[in-house]
Amino acid sequence: MKRLANFINGQYQAPVGGAYLPVFEPAKGAVYAEAPDSDEQDVALAMAAAKAAQPQWAGTSIDERYRILHNIALGIEKRAEELAAAESRDNGKPVWLAQEVDIPRASANFRFFAQAITQFASQAHDNGPGGFNYTLRGPLGVVVCISPWNLPLYLFSWKIAPALAAGNAVVAKPSEVTPLTAYLLGEICQEAGLPPGVLNILHGYGHRLGTALTSHPQVKAISFTGSTRTGAEIARVAAPLFKKLSLELGGKNPNLIFADCDYDKMLRTTVRSSFANQGQICLCGSRIFVEASLYDQFKADFVEKVKALKVGAPTAADTKVGAVVSQAHYEKILSYIQLAQEEGGRILCGGAPVQLDGEYANGWYIAPTVIEGLAHDCRTNQEEIFGPVVTIMPFETEEEVLQYANSTEYGLAATIWTQKLDRAHKLARELEAGIVWINTWLKRDLRTPFGGVKNSGVGREGGFEALRFFTEPKNVCLDFE
Ligand code: NDP
Repeated sequence: MKRLANFINGQYQAPVGGAYLPVFEPAKGAVYAEAPDSDEQDVALAMAAAKAAQPQWAGTSIDERYRILHNIALGIEKRAEELAAAESRDNGKPVWLAQEVDIPRASANFRFFAQAITQFASQAHDNGPGGFNYTLRGPLGVVVCISPWNLPLYLFSWKIAPALAAGNAVVAKPSEVTPLTAYLLGEICQEAGLPPGVLNILHGYGHRLGTALTSHPQVKAISFTGSTRTGAEIARVAAPLFKKLSLELGGKNPNLIFADCDYDKMLRTTVRSSFANQGQICLCGSRIFVEASLYDQFKADFVEKVKALKVGAPTAADTKVGAVVSQAHYEKILSYIQLAQEEGGRILCGGAPVQLDGEYANGWYIAPTVIEGLAHDCRTNQEEIFGPVVTIMPFETEEEVLQYANSTEYGLAATIWTQKLDRAHKLARELEAGIVWINTWLKRDLRTPFGGVKNSGVGREGGFEALRFFTEPKNVCLDFE
């Protein structure tokens, strides 16, 4: 059985306490590897390595940092096939999805922030004969990056790349559910010439390692993506210690579909925005509001398309929906389907596990599920399910759908489908969300601010926002008088 190791001070190391945790292959429902079950002793080693390495890394020229981060991007591309297979095995997602999205995006993150740091500048405030101010932006020091299991290397690199580009040393923890690609990233960083100690990767349970990481006196900032519950726990621990926090949390994203939309594009995209990655993308639209005059047609066409999605082994090229990530998550999703029925929802398709054959017989598969007949304010429509489950609901007016859309505690993303420009822009302004797509979904430009409002998060990632987060501004004032 494959045994993973922590990556500390440029070397792979066994956990000090010698404990390991099982890593499952969701497609088969079986353990296939073990990862370190790290504890405070491993945190101490990683922090010491980061502290020792950071000053020299901060003093490295921008060109050199560009070169090394760019090398990491190339290293990911070189091993793309192996990384995609690893991501699929760990997470249950189709291999083709990891090949087309996760792994290219991970290398794009390193390439993007390698370039971004060469363009990053600070401000000067000229006060004429009275003097002037300029702002220095230096690295923070040692920072912690914690990421979830749904887009493992993609979200891990989305945090690490800007942190490193800005001159910080990083102690990072991937989700213990999906550690494999983060483990492989250590080798890629070694080959790319990243100095030892600049990036340290620890594996282990969040509840065991989390507080040791987030309360460590050396840590200046924490960048976290994960659930709202864990985000609140991290804030509780870190805020009184005055650590900088970036929190990307859960969502319950609405799709607003008007009768005048480009119907074919909307339908195609809505199938994707509902079930891509088994619905386990924080940006997936799980509440689908459809203008009443279009509702019956949409329902019939949408359900037909969803029924045609093949649930299958992640290795099969024609699989559209793979396994969900863990047994606990599988049970959680099924419990929400049960709740939806108790709340009066009608299952239009799916609604049950899917049993595959042979070596995949024990995998965690759930048929893509569409539910109607629920009120916008029931639990099914208010709580994050984060699986292949969506609800559809009719609406009559813009005011009504806006109120439904904004009625949850979340505010990550929203999608509007309409050809009317004035309506689209008015709604985009009024929707309580950090990201609004008009007539598209998941179209990303890495320069734009990324994050949520309300319980979906605090702060923004992406572009210079991320570089600003990972640097400390210091104003210098010069008086001419
Ligand atoms: P969790 O919050 O359970 O875990 C996220 C990470 O935090 C994991 O590495 C976890 O470790 C770790 N962790 C757990 N407890 C602590 C703690 N007390 N202190 C520090 N770290 C801790 O989220 P999931 O992994 O279940 O991810 C799914 C969630 O992520 C969904 O809510 C989804 O919406 C959200 N998400 C948000 C995105 C956004 O950009 N806003 C993007 C993608 C996902 P361990 O795995 O060992 O528990």
